[in-house]
Amino acid sequence: MNTKARASLRRCKRVLVKIGSRVLTTGNGLNNRVIERICDDLSLLRDKGKEFAVVSSGAIAEGTAIMRIPDKKTALSKKQALAAIGQGSLIRAYNEAFRRYGYTTAQILVTRDDLDNRRRYLNIRNTFTSLFDLGAIPIINENDTVSVDEIQFTDNDMLSAMIIPLVEAQVMIILTDIEGIYSKDPRTNPDSTIIPEIIDLKPKDLKAYSDDANPMGRGGIKSKLQAAYRASLLGVPTVIASAYTPQVISQVLEGKEIGTYVHPRKKDMLNQKDHWMSFVSRPKGKVYIDDGAAVMVLTKGKSLLACGVEGVSGNFRPGDPVEIVQGSGETIAIGLSNFTSEEVFKIKGAGSRELSAILAYECDEEVVHRNNMILRKEIL
Ligand code: GLU
Repeated sequence: MNTKARASLRRCKRVLVKIGSRVLTTGNGLNNRVIERICDDLSLLRDKGKEFAVVSSGAIAEGTAIMRIPDKKTALSKKQALAAIGQGSLIRAYNEAFRRYGYTTAQILVTRDDLDNRRRYLNIRNTFTSLFDLGAIPIINENDTVSVDEIQFTDNDMLSAMIIPLVEAQVMIILTDIEGIYSKDPRTNPDSTIIPEIIDLKPKDLKAYSDDANPMGRGGIKSKLQAAYRASLLGVPTVIASAYTPQVISQVLEGKEIGTYVHPRKKDMLNQKDHWMSFVSRPKGKVYIDDGAAVMVLTKGKSLLACGVEGVSGNFRPGDPVEIVQGSGETIAIGLSNFTSEEVFKIKGAGSRELSAILAYECDEEVVHRNNMILRKEIL
């Protein structure tokens, strides 16, 4: 194991900790012992100057326990109601646990829509900055009560990966009910061991790790690795470890070999805006381009010009993310459009000098500027 990489965790000041439903609930309600132990650990580290944002699941599981609902395959609308019931006790448990040390928590409930909109996304980032300035510990969860099916975060692992740039975390620690990523499925392979580190994780490797069924929370191992992969692109390492290990967060931040360490990318990292375009925002439309334009974009590092555009679909405004699709139907890039979808339709195929005349105003030359574009191959 690369001990230097682990040792670098000692220097991390801002840490994102994600805690899953399964460790927070017993089936009969919140597991207060686990919550208190984690908050003890966090508070003592906080005394030493570390800062934390916590992404906590458990609202639906807690609501289910409070209402004594046996069936876990509950309809979405009921889950939304159960989240509303459970979230209160969840946040109270954190409040009380941190209050013993004189620390204040702040509840942040977000929906996918809040992060999808760039202005709101940046506004949430300002709120986090203020919370850290005030010394509060943000406790984040999806606002399940108002999230509709198709726009939900896949799960809180994905939410955590999206939150990293907002809280400016230097490391993500995912606490779960297993010791880390196993080399083989431990239920059927007693000789399986914990993989201490994963270097250069790629989306195609994710399938190689078995997923586990999870009746309460939504994520599994695959989704934890997916989140770790997205963190790695930002240059942020992830440690996946067991919430039941005493002082697990202290141990991780001391650089001890505990859980699975997913290495961050060392070069070609994504900046915060590219990360948002790639993994947070949902494209609002598609711009279809010819093969010549695809070559310029893919291999020459050029912007997308109107002369290479063949078609457009969707309904978007300037600044919205759009998929750039090659004739073959393959999405080759995502970028922020300088025009509305109607305008792109009007200027498609036109030379750069004709644009202002067609649109009757002085406009940008590029449909999507290179600085606002990310190639798919850069994130795969
Ligand atoms: N937001 C859900 C809850 O608080 C959990 C989602 C997940 O487990 O990933 O119950």
